[in-house]
Amino acid sequence: MIIGIDLGTTNSLAAYFTPEGPRLIPNRLGQKLTPSVVSIDEEGQVYVGETAQERMRLYPDSAASVFKRSMGSDKEYLLSGKSYRAEELSSFVLRSLKEDAEHYLGEPVTEAVISVPAYFNDARRRATKRAGELAGLRVERIVSEPTAAAIAYGLYQENKNTRFLVFDLGGGTFDVSILELFENILEVRAVAGDNFLGGEDFTEALLRLFCEKQKIDPLSLSRKEAESLHHQAEECKKRFSQSNVCTFTFSWNGQTYEQQISAVEYEAACEDLLERIRRPIKRSLSDAGIHLNEIDKVVMVGGATKMPMIRHFVAKLFRRLPDASVNPDEAVALGAAIQAAMKERDAAIREVILTDVCPFTLGTEVVREVEEGQFEGGHYCPIIERNTVIPASRTERLYTVRDNQTRIRVHILQGESRFAKNNLSLGEIEIEIPKAKAGEEPVDVTYTYDINSILEVEVKVVSTGKTVRQVIKGQYTQMTDEEIEQRLKDLSYLKIHPRDQEENRLLLLRGERLYEESVGNRRVLLEQELTLFEQALDSHDENRIGQARNRLKSFLEKLDEP
Ligand code: AMP
Repeated sequence: MIIGIDLGTTNSLAAYFTPEGPRLIPNRLGQKLTPSVVSIDEEGQVYVGETAQERMRLYPDSAASVFKRSMGSDKEYLLSGKSYRAEELSSFVLRSLKEDAEHYLGEPVTEAVISVPAYFNDARRRATKRAGELAGLRVERIVSEPTAAAIAYGLYQENKNTRFLVFDLGGGTFDVSILELFENILEVRAVAGDNFLGGEDFTEALLRLFCEKQKIDPLSLSRKEAESLHHQAEECKKRFSQSNVCTFTFSWNGQTYEQQISAVEYEAACEDLLERIRRPIKRSLSDAGIHLNEIDKVVMVGGATKMPMIRHFVAKLFRRLPDASVNPDEAVALGAAIQAAMKERDAAIREVILTDVCPFTLGTEVVREVEEGQFEGGHYCPIIERNTVIPASRTERLYTVRDNQTRIRVHILQGESRFAKNNLSLGEIEIEIPKAKAGEEPVDVTYTYDINSILEVEVKVVSTGKTVRQVIKGQYTQMTDEEIEQRLKDLSYLKIHPRDQEENRLLLLRGERLYEESVGNRRVLLEQELTLFEQALDSHDENRIGQARNRLKSFLEKLDEP
């Protein structure tokens, strides 16, 4: 059996093809979306999806998320003291999807078509294939996400040449792709994006608006309290899909804070974010040499395009309603399943893809003025942005921050995080500079990146012309077959947590978290309910466990409600 998989940054989905068309495959919890989160405990037990997400809130050091961004790089993630690469973490997600699909379909799943962003270059596509292999799947075909979305919308069936724009606003990234269909070949004409823009920013904007109105200083919250507030913001954001006025509720220090927020107010708070959406659209159109009026269709993909304010914005910009007839969360997986079926019949859509783009952002660490006269280190300054057509060369001018500074250190980084520490360190250049007042002695930092993945960094002191250069070769690891085999062996002691216990495990974790978040009577009640459930589990009586599970579930749902 062959299935289609959307291996997403935030969520992953699997789908298969039926005579009635593509259908999603529910996971072990009966849900269509499996959060792309992995958690590993001390015993080497692997948790994927919602259970891993709950574990991440309770034991942050045991879990990782958004690792797709580092696919194909050497970045290592530490989980319960052991390190894993992005493709290994992705392989756990794939393995979990594969097992769920086998259970649901009642037959072995041996092969998959997996989708990747259009800007993934060859090395990152290979890393994705490897993740599939590590999960025990054959991956002969990779399909790019906008192409899969276009297939889900049936755009490949159009007879005439069609141009369309795929608008993909996910949790943490915004991608625009312009595709052209020409005689059964889909060509990705241009891609543009913003690595720092996604649904998450809209959650943050709502969170800030709430805190402002309720006079809560978010910085005074503990990590867990901040996560709980974030969770409430996320839930409230989603309610705007149904209502024009929403209530934001947050319990903190035994007090409940409640605030009504209107869609108009919320949109006003997102003005800057909406403005940022405009830029990649403009860039992709100009890169493709296409005028906005020449776009035949706009297709919406990604969970965040469910926000009414985004749909209005796109409708206004293109002066037509975007096509959102397929659920934006599901379009890519459904398209991958169609592509999988077509592959079996040898009728797959051929795509012409862009591969000569820089697959990730290359930048340096800088100090930023956070408030007047107050500086903070550790910030990231992108120099060559992900998606830039290569070879590319870009220069950024940096200034001294202290009076009489005698050296400048340029830290060379690769990655998409706003913070230097979360990105991959590739090297360092130090250069001496003449003493001067702060901000008066600039250096020019030039990054040149070529098709062979060679990065050359040059730092030049503007006043003296003194120059230092460093060459950094290939950021990709090309695993050999033997290495894959070895890694498979290394990972084989890790077992995906048994699926039949998943729901019980998730309930217990959710209960534990709510216990930590509560005080007083809520805690006492929670303790009682959790103990009852644990006793039922100890009895091994399926009937009793089922009843206790339902009871605990509705109890927790009531508690977790805003
Ligand atoms: P994706 O990466 O495509 O799974 O998108 C995830 C993003 O979509 C997250 O930021 C979610 O908060 C957001 N999202 C999902 N459903 C909704 C909804 N109904 N309204 C607003 N945002 C949503």
